[in-house]
Amino acid sequence: MITLKEALIKSPQELAEIRQELRRKAESGGLNAVIAFDEAGEGVPILLKDNIQVKGWNVTCASKILQGYVAPYDATVVENLRAAGMAPFGRANMDEFAMGSTTESSVYGPTLNPHDTSRVPGGSSGGSAAAVAAGEAIAALGSDTGGSIRQPAAYCGVVGFKPTYGRVSRYGLGAYASSLDQIGPITQNVEDAAILYDAIKGHDPRDSTSAEFEKEPIYGQIDPDRKLTIAVIDNYVAEASPAVQRAHEEALKALEAEGHTIVHKELSNTKYDIATYYIVATAEAATNLARYDGVRYGRRCDDPKNLEDLYFRTRSEGFGEEVKRRILLGNFVLSSGYYDAYYLKAQKVRHLIRDEFNKIFAEADLILSPVAPSVAPKLGALADPLEMYKSDMYTIAVNLVGLPGLSLPVMKDSETGMPVGLQLLAKAFDEKTLFDGAASLE
Ligand code: GLN
Repeated sequence: MITLKEALIKSPQELAEIRQELRRKAESGGLNAVIAFDEAGEGVPILLKDNIQVKGWNVTCASKILQGYVAPYDATVVENLRAAGMAPFGRANMDEFAMGSTTESSVYGPTLNPHDTSRVPGGSSGGSAAAVAAGEAIAALGSDTGGSIRQPAAYCGVVGFKPTYGRVSRYGLGAYASSLDQIGPITQNVEDAAILYDAIKGHDPRDSTSAEFEKEPIYGQIDPDRKLTIAVIDNYVAEASPAVQRAHEEALKALEAEGHTIVHKELSNTKYDIATYYIVATAEAATNLARYDGVRYGRRCDDPKNLEDLYFRTRSEGFGEEVKRRILLGNFVLSSGYYDAYYLKAQKVRHLIRDEFNKIFAEADLILSPVAPSVAPKLGALADPLEMYKSDMYTIAVNLVGLPGLSLPVMKDSETGMPVGLQLLAKAFDEKTLFDGAASLE
């Protein structure tokens, strides 16, 4: 499969052929990873998660409620892609509104893992990761609110990178939880992740949380020989499956052999990660999804009797079960009488989680951690929502704190044959160090 780096020096004619070939592969691949294709794109084709707006496309966040919605403008990341010689290739399957860890909650049906089609590709950016892993896309964009780039990348054996919150504009991203959402690349290797990240990042006045930083490139500057101090969170690793623990041990050995210094640390607030995340994320989701009222966007119920009936039936028919659960949860934690006990408390705990990470980063350049507790689960195995939420235990703190994290494949599990990925985490805005470490581990 041609890499992004190689594709960027191809002629328009060659790229048109590559685009056709990828489309044929995706249509016959049987994974349900790519749900729609663009005919006319000029440039290196990049697959986009179905929550990133492309002018004139039917962008749906894999939800029934957005069927028929046509995006009136390009997301900033799409403008940036075009300026860098790339162009949208098609829409990748995802969990409805990016709520999920398996890509099973999509209105288009589940995506399958290319390494074993009885298993999920992870989620919510499961279509993006499966397509890159299966050679149906050169590279893809996903979004990561609580692991949705890093976890499917780990389950599919590809590289997934969640930038520091504020590095990549959220303008034109279908909002899930605005203080956590971040767009990022899913690629075949670390170098391609740097190329794609360089292309999409940068300050954007249309996103009020966009960071005002220089746009210095990472690609071309990566130093795999740099010696770093890498922290390992022992109490984190102990809770992972044997396959993930083995991968972690191997990676540690490899990093030590490369001359990095390993330090052992603990995080005591990790037991609050899941509760804190599912309060903050659902509160923000309930607020963001209030806009889908059948009046302004997408699908409207048939023959509404009055305004209340229009709201009620449009939303009842349009949202799937998991999305409804989260809207209910979010409105509950925000309601008067519960706001202080849940939402406000969660915001305070969020600060404690951040302080603990900052303490580690005062002594270490990077943290090495599992991405998920196991290899990709079987389809249907995480049908219990609480079990699914628990499987996010390694990814969500990063979003609560806003840190950059990069997940990369390190091993194949001998028992299942499935890829195992690990993630490296860095200080906020220290993507350069993150890529140096990732290149050394790759
Ligand atoms: N699995 C997490 C959730 O369901 C994260 C999803 C994401 O990062 N978009 O909220």
